[in-house]
Amino acid sequence: MSEDDVATRKMQFLFALRSKGVTDQRVLEAMEKIDRGAFIKGLFAERAYEDMPLPIACGQTISQPSVVGLMTQALNVRPRDKVLEVGTGSGYQAAILSLLARRVYTVDRHKRLVMEARDIFAAMDLSNITAISSDGSFGLPDQAPFDRIIVTAAAEDPPPPLLAQLKVGGIMVLPVGQSDHVQSLIRVTRTEDGFEYDELRPVRFVPLIEGLGRDG
Ligand code: SAH
Repeated sequence: MSEDDVATRKMQFLFALRSKGVTDQRVLEAMEKIDRGAFIKGLFAERAYEDMPLPIACGQTISQPSVVGLMTQALNVRPRDKVLEVGTGSGYQAAILSLLARRVYTVDRHKRLVMEARDIFAAMDLSNITAISSDGSFGLPDQAPFDRIIVTAAAEDPPPPLLAQLKVGGIMVLPVGQSDHVQSLIRVTRTEDGFEYDELRPVRFVPLIEGLGRDG
């Protein structure tokens, strides 16, 4: 691909985001800065600027860019926020969050994905991300509570430890539903007295699986 082709594709990429409802200027700027191409290796690299999910290592997927944008927008991240992401995958979503938040913790059950994402974060000089291999359904008790939590794998219900690790006034965005059915993207807001739930849109994510991957 020539440099001109790359520039054209990136422009189309941003246009597609806007036309699918990603309108928050800070989110669009972050997505303009973080090159999705850096997170996709091999055969699918040349499709990095298309609005579709793509396969990554360990049988997982990097999410569709417009879904990344809509989830990030729904999370309403503020500059002083401490954010937890469950499901590092390629690291793309975490990289975008790192431009919007003070600190990002991201966890994945596959150690290989965590190691590869760490290398990309270092190469991009994103020094406010900590990537850890662990079972994210338990959250990250040592670093809790969080202002914002985003889950990029689908559970049947919001995992109770994640609800417990959300600050009052905090927001969590996650897909819920059975893994082989269409799931719903929901936003949970913690109030003084409990939790409020908004249903945002249908989505399809890989399942949230308990325990560590076989690669650690
Ligand atoms: N946010 C990613 C896409 C994630 S795909 C990106 O931007 O590329 C979903 C990820 O969730 C997979 O990498 C999978 O390994 C991870 N996952 C599934 N169950 C998990 C669990 N219990 N704890 C941590 N990670 C989990």
